[in-house]
Amino acid sequence: MSAQTTSEHPAKSPSTPEIPTFIPGAPFDDTDADLLLTSCDGADFRVQSHVLALLSPVFKGMFSFPQPPGETEIPRVQMSETAIVLDRVLRFCYPGGDCDPVDLSLQQLKEILDIGRHKYDIQSIVPRAKMVLKSKLNTDPVAAFAIACSQEWNDLAVNAARSSLRFPIRSFDFVPELRNIPAHQYQAILRYHAECSAVCVDSTKTLETWYKDTSKSFFTCQVCPPSALWTRPAPVKSRQYSRTWFSCYLKAARHALKVQPLADLSDPVLMVDAVKGFAECASCRAHGFDHLQEFAKRALPARINSVINTVCIFRICVSYALIVESIRKKSGSIFDRVWAMKSRG
Ligand SMILES: [Zn+2]
Repeated sequence: MSAQTTSEHPAKSPSTPEIPTFIPGAPFDDTDADLLLTSCDGADFRVQSHVLALLSPVFKGMFSFPQPPGETEIPRVQMSETAIVLDRVLRFCYPGGDCDPVDLSLQQLKEILDIGRHKYDIQSIVPRAKMVLKSKLNTDPVAAFAIACSQEWNDLAVNAARSSLRFPIRSFDFVPELRNIPAHQYQAILRYHAECSAVCVDSTKTLETWYKDTSKSFFTCQVCPPSALWTRPAPVKSRQYSRTWFSCYLKAARHALKVQPLADLSDPVLMVDAVKGFAECASCRAHGFDHLQEFAKRALPARINSVINTVCIFRICVSYALIVESIRKKSGSIFDRVWAMKSRG
């Protein structure tokens, strides 16, 4: 518990009384309050001490000291947080605090966790904080990953890493939250992204090993010019050519997957050349679009999800990273050994 004042807020002078610019609203204007929390910029938050004691063992320990005899005024605790920050933290955990988690930025969430969870040991905020973080995974996965790692929430770190696959790695700009994780954790998400890219791109080159439907027009058409030759493995062991227009789609999809392993594979931009190709073929024109859609919306995404699941996502878990650290000290990085094995194929 902090009870210090800061140099930014000198002692009040009787001739120039300090007027706080922040007036706490309900429920921190409670006339029945038995405790004042005073922010470092002079705002008084009227609270119930027994509520704070239930929320925080730090507050509980502080209240165990008896009031001086003869004291009639409501006890006051000087806080080191500004009124705006204190208001945000209290509203996140105090009953009736009416904090809308949707409005919180990740920076504000981190601030709440730093002060609420780690400074005042208010562990009851964890489920709600996790919910907020989860809602940000798809918009800011790198910052969410950093916060999840710093809180040792491995499940959310894994989910954030997976969400990062929807973004190009070049968009991983610096975010302040990265200051709170060690370099090897950031390196882990970069390697995870790169490794997922590699297996996804590989899927577009090895269709014969996983795509079993040979009835589609991009295989059966005898009019369109052939392109890639597929030699299906035993027991089928047949040789097949895919049509040129289908190879155009595969090439576009491959490029998208290289940049974003969870790219939208049914994006019309990826299909433009393929559509032009089968539109010129009387044989493919009837079913080409349906067959391409089925492949781009279902078959290929299912394969992509499957191969991404084979990537060792646990390497990015905080607990695993700690194990890796100890292994690294003894015999070199397991990251490097696994990476080298992958590179050798
Ligand atoms: Zn055709």
